[in-house]
Amino acid sequence: MTDLPTLDALRHRDATDVLAAFRSEFVLPEGMIYFDGNSLGPAPKEALSELEQAARQEWSQDLIRSWNSANWFQLPLELGDRIGAIIGAAAGQVAVSDSTSINIFKALSAALSLRPGRGTILAEASSFPTDLYIAEGLVATRPGLTLRLEGVDGARIEEMLDDDVAVVLLNHVNYRSGSLLDMAALTAKIHAAGALVIWDLCHSAGAVPIELDGAHADFAVGCSYKYLNGGPGAPAFLYAATRHHAELSQPLSGWWGHARPFAFETRYDAHQGIAKFLCGTQPILSLRALKGALAMWERVDMAALRAKSQSLTDLFIALVENRCAGHGLVLQTTRDRDLRGSQVSFSHPEAYPVMQALIERNVIGDFRAPDVLRFGFTPLYLSHEDVWNAVEILREVLDSGIWREPRFAARSAVT
Ligand SMILES: *Cc1c(COP(=O)(O)O)cnc(C)c1O
Repeated sequence: MTDLPTLDALRHRDATDVLAAFRSEFVLPEGMIYFDGNSLGPAPKEALSELEQAARQEWSQDLIRSWNSANWFQLPLELGDRIGAIIGAAAGQVAVSDSTSINIFKALSAALSLRPGRGTILAEASSFPTDLYIAEGLVATRPGLTLRLEGVDGARIEEMLDDDVAVVLLNHVNYRSGSLLDMAALTAKIHAAGALVIWDLCHSAGAVPIELDGAHADFAVGCSYKYLNGGPGAPAFLYAATRHHAELSQPLSGWWGHARPFAFETRYDAHQGIAKFLCGTQPILSLRALKGALAMWERVDMAALRAKSQSLTDLFIALVENRCAGHGLVLQTTRDRDLRGSQVSFSHPEAYPVMQALIERNVIGDFRAPDVLRFGFTPLYLSHEDVWNAVEILREVLDSGIWREPRFAARSAVT
C-alpha cells in the first residue's frame, strides 16, 4: 500500500502540470467535476468557434459554394489525417465518416474480402455490444460465415486462432473494465495465424498513445465524440493500412467512395485509396466542430497525457479504497497502470442510485449495467485536486446513505 498524498502535495503536482493550460480551452460548467469524457467529451472552445463559422458564414452566407470554398468535400480525409497523427497512422490511411457501428461493418467486410478462403470472425464476448451486433448482422447475410466469441467459445483469442479465422475484432480498451490490450503483440499473433485484425479504438483514441502503423495493424475504427471531443454524434473514423487498399472491397459502395464521384457514372468504380471507405454525404456541421477539436489535439503531447492519466487513475483508486472502505465498492479495473486505459470502474450492488446521487452533486461519471460505476479520466481538464474533491463527495454520498432516497432509483432512457 502506497502512502496517500496530502491535498497540498496534489496541489503542488497540479501547479507543475504541463497540461494544465488546456483546462481553459474547454467550456465546462463552474463547479462540475466531469468524469464522462469517455462517453461524451466536453466542448473545446475551438470546436464551438468552428461550428459558429460553419453555420453562420459557410452555410448561411456562402451556401453551396462552401463545398469548394470551405473545403467541405475534403473534410473526411483531411480530418482523417489529423486523427491519424493521434493514433500513429501516416497520412492517407484514415477516413472520418459515418458511425463506429457502420465502420465496423465496412472493416469486417473489407477484411473478409482479403481472406476469401476463411469463414470465421473472432471477437470478445466482453466487447462493446454494437461490435458484436454488427458482426452478427454481417454473419446473417453470408452463408458459411461464423462468429466465435472469446469468453463463450474459447478462453483466449490466442487459443482460438486457427486457419479458418479471417479476422479478429478487438476492443483496444474495454469499455467496462478499462483494461488495455497489447496491440503490437496481439497483432503479431493474429498475423502469424494468417488472419487480419480490426482494432476498435473508441476508448483509447485520445486516451493512450497508439501506434497503428508501428503495430502493423490492418484496420481500426473509433469514435470522435468520446476522448477526442468532437461533439455529440460526431462522425467516426476508419483506418485501413495502405498495403491493403488496392485489393480490398467493402459493400457500402456509395458515391463518395467512387473514383470520380462527380462524373455521375452508372457503374461503381471504387477509389483506390482510403476514400473507398466513404459512403455518402457527411454531417458537415459535426465535421467542422471536430475540426476545431482536432486543432487543439495537435498541441497535445501524448506522452505527457499518458503520464498524467496514470497519475490520476492511480490516485483515484488509492483514495477511493481508503476513504470509501467498507461500503462495498470493488475495483473492476486492473491495478497495473500499464494495462489500464484512462478509466476506472468500481462495482457496487446499488451502482445506479449511487451514481445518480453523485451526479446530483455535480460529479459526473456513469453507470454500466448491471452494477458498474464508471469514471473516465481526461488529463486535458481534470486535476489531481478534482480527483481528491470527487472522492470526498463520493464518500459523503456513501457515508450518509443519501443514495437510498427513492428518486435516485428511477431509471432514464439513457444510463
Ligand atoms: C462507444 C463505442 C461504440 C459506439 O458506436 P456508435 O456507432 O458510435 O454508436 C462502438 N464501440 C465501442 C468499443 C465503443 O466504446
